[in-house]
Amino acid sequence: MKQYEFWFVVGSQFLYGSEVLEIVEARAREMAAELSKVLPYPLVYKVTAKTNKEITDVVKEANYRDECAGIVTWCHTFSPSKMWINGLAALQKPYCHLATQYNKEIPNDEIDMDFMNLNQAAHGDREHGFIAARLRMPRKVIAGYWQDEKVHKRLSDWMKAAVGVAVSKQMKVMRFGDNMREVAVTEGDKVEVQTKLGWQVNTWAVGDLVKEMNKVTEAEVDALVAEYEASYVMATDNLYAIRYQAKEEIAMKKMLDREGCRAFTNTFQDLYGMEQLPGLASQHLMAQGYGYGGEGDWKVSAMTAILKAMGEGGNGASGFMEDYTYHLVEGQEYSLGAHMLEVCPSLAADKPRIETHHLGIGMNEKDPARLVFEGKAGKGIVVSLVDMGGRLRLIVQDIEAVKPIMPMPNLPVARVMWRALPDLTTGVECWIIAGGAHHTVLSYDVTAEQMRDWARMMDIEFVHIGADTTPEKLEEELLVKDLVWKLK
Ligand code: MN
Repeated sequence: MKQYEFWFVVGSQFLYGSEVLEIVEARAREMAAELSKVLPYPLVYKVTAKTNKEITDVVKEANYRDECAGIVTWCHTFSPSKMWINGLAALQKPYCHLATQYNKEIPNDEIDMDFMNLNQAAHGDREHGFIAARLRMPRKVIAGYWQDEKVHKRLSDWMKAAVGVAVSKQMKVMRFGDNMREVAVTEGDKVEVQTKLGWQVNTWAVGDLVKEMNKVTEAEVDALVAEYEASYVMATDNLYAIRYQAKEEIAMKKMLDREGCRAFTNTFQDLYGMEQLPGLASQHLMAQGYGYGGEGDWKVSAMTAILKAMGEGGNGASGFMEDYTYHLVEGQEYSLGAHMLEVCPSLAADKPRIETHHLGIGMNEKDPARLVFEGKAGKGIVVSLVDMGGRLRLIVQDIEAVKPIMPMPNLPVARVMWRALPDLTTGVECWIIAGGAHHTVLSYDVTAEQMRDWARMMDIEFVHIGADTTPEKLEEELLVKDLVWKLK
């Protein structure tokens, strides 16, 4: 996992004299150091900027340095914003304006005009905010006292979204086979996603994967099966199927790593030369942070990898999901999500079980091994990126996952049960109105606000379906957005 950092750029000017500037710098260093202790990525103090050149120079360096995942700006004092224009116009990295203040309280006895001139963020941050608005800069504004936990949480969340931007810009997706025949929503403009999101989406032959599988040694398989045994409950005697999945995983991982791909797709319609659809293999790869999409769905695969990277510890509880069927009993309205095999174990409530079952769909000659488990209860989101023709739309819906309300003993796959917001049927209406796919990324630790931040940074349309959404409001919103995005 790459080590990212963020740069703290503090605005000021020469008007106040060197003594004030020294205080500003010392405080900015202190704030960066203290914040770095509580944030997921270091905040590195860079400069107290007083000139156009200082700002332009730090932006040029931020653009160039791969480890810099974004800049955080703040104006302790007043910083006339015309000096920021050239730098901000050149900025290619995520940008957060932290509207904060060094002191928490107004000191009743101490306050005089010297204090006012030193501590004028209320003043400086407005001048700073204007120029970003004037330049139509995509930016995050976070206001609050820098030592408050709420500010730490919001800054942490934004940093993770910005890391999602860095991961997106380097994203390479390996496709084994094409999309499932005739399916519309998994299609899309690969040139558009590379231009907008940075994704390189390319195809490798299934035959190349089979060749790679034939080179896998028994010793390599032994080692991976030992890892499976340590991570999961063995609930099958069919060791052959597990070893076959291990061989598939090792071969896919070698090809992914060789090409620098962080996400992959395959399709049950093209398993030529393979005996089993990768189930356990894909699931264990997802557990390691790789993105996956079934039926050739490269959009959901890349998004899975990005949401994982945005999650806790750089590999959070996010996974490829598919809406399957509903429970429509009043007061118990839930969606049941699963997939043919490939549900990520990061969503599991308990230790997953390795099982083998017959799989009727597709080219499977033998019963594939897969991980079976129940999803965790808790708040989450489902995310879908769709291609509207001429632009990309990111749809995010808030959900509340529950422990599945029935055991479903004959269901041979991992399952997650949830209630969409605002309620199941209104939520489904809104999702369908917006054109959301049947494939999603389901996440327990990425929030809708983080996805909004990510979409803003990527300059794509964002639609959020939450507790307050109604089909009427949503239709109006989509109509306006359709016009706006045609003009953009
Ligand atoms: Mn599917």
